[in-house]
Amino acid sequence: MNKNANIIEIFSSIQGEGPYIGYRQIFIRFAGCNLSCDYCDTPFQAQEFCNIQKTESSEKLKNPVSVEQLLKEISNFNKISHHSISLTGGEPLLHTDFLLDFLSDFRKNFPKTKVYLETNGTLFEELEKIIDYIDIISMDLKLKSSTGIDFPFEQHKKFIEIARDCHVGTKVPPRNDNFEIFAKAVITSKISDEEIEELSDFIKIPLILQPVSSDNKEILLSSRDILEIQEKFLKKLGDVRVIPQVHKFLDLL
Ligand code: SF4
Repeated sequence: MNKNANIIEIFSSIQGEGPYIGYRQIFIRFAGCNLSCDYCDTPFQAQEFCNIQKTESSEKLKNPVSVEQLLKEISNFNKISHHSISLTGGEPLLHTDFLLDFLSDFRKNFPKTKVYLETNGTLFEELEKIIDYIDIISMDLKLKSSTGIDFPFEQHKKFIEIARDCHVGTKVPPRNDNFEIFAKAVITSKISDEEIEELSDFIKIPLILQPVSSDNKEILLSSRDILEIQEKFLKKLGDVRVIPQVHKFLDLL
């Protein structure tokens, strides 16, 4: 078992995407990713040190970080109330051996703080290993029109199937009463009707559309385009919301 993980940074900030926008979280950014999206601006390469970002200062921790060290850092941040820890990356599901140990101890030490997983929604076998410890999954859908990579249809499909096995409202009894999953997709003017059809046919979970924005924080889709795209999804899906990525506008990490 690997009880250490290469972590890029740990910091306290607000969630800037999706239905949990504004909640205060402790973010744990894991190194490494299994995809290479065109628009990626996330620093996820493994580093010698993990940055601990405090409001007024920063510290460094030698990588790889142990479960005990991570729990200690979280307890330092948790002196103010946080809604959840956000496991992010890169792709945090590349670290499931570490996460199994860490989340088991985390639950015992911080029973009231939720576990929020931010994932690219492709590593379904890894999800299955740790899903009992997860309260909320924020899953990206990697549309070819925005990522430049082939749409990982089969991986996304299996990922949602595994997650829905414990989703409240499905026929299978939930393993975790608090469990929730939603999907996010960055949309651009290049999105095609075929992509919308393909997506609408298999995702039966809430969908958040994120209009693409430029480096200088300008939304690159007209309001008419955004409404038209949402309407096309709403023909087949019941819960489709448009929520831009607000952390960019607030200059938050
Ligand atoms: S999945 Fe996320 S972290 Fe990985 S390349 Fe794509 S945008 Fe970057």
